[in-house]
Amino acid sequence: MTEPFWKTTPLEEMTEEQWESLCDGCGKCCVYKIEDDDGELYQTDVCCQYFDQNTCCCGDYANRFQLVPDCIQVTPEGARNYEWLPNTCAYKLLAKGRDLPDWHPLVTGDSESVHQANRSARRKVISEKVAGPLEDHVIAIVLLDDPESDPLSEIDSEEG
Ligand code: SF4
Ligand code: SF4
Repeated sequence: MTEPFWKTTPLEEMTEEQWESLCDGCGKCCVYKIEDDDGELYQTDVCCQYFDQNTCCCGDYANRFQLVPDCIQVTPEGARNYEWLPNTCAYKLLAKGRDLPDWHPLVTGDSESVHQANRSARRKVISEKVAGPLEDHVIAIVLLDDPESDPLSEIDSEEG
């Protein structure tokens, strides 16, 4: 049986299509974390104002870098270095030598599986336009070395 591409292809050697397909659509990289002076990361439930709660995607993907200068394109180098990426982020998992989780759309063949597994930010977060101070929205500390540390999965979504 042929191994899937993410197990055999180094990040730098993936095609653009393969690279893009790794994104599980969780939307959690559009939800803010706060870093304190000691480097601890705290998860909030506040999202970027351009995050679309219904699609769980950027509401203006083509213009995101103009709209939000801090918005970041994940690259192989970034996948290795951006500790703030969610622990469940496929890019971060692969960069750390881990496999994709069994709920990942590439594994299930179903783009909804990330939501059904309660691993996305869909309908769980509050726009920064109405949230008020980020410090008032901390929901948990992020345990960086624990791939199961995924504070947003503790929130029940408002799916319906
Ligand atoms: S956290 Fe990673 S997998 Fe999830 S939407 Fe962002 S880039 Fe994609
Ligand atoms: S601009 Fe779009 S991709 Fe960037 S953080 Fe905001 S919602 Fe996410």
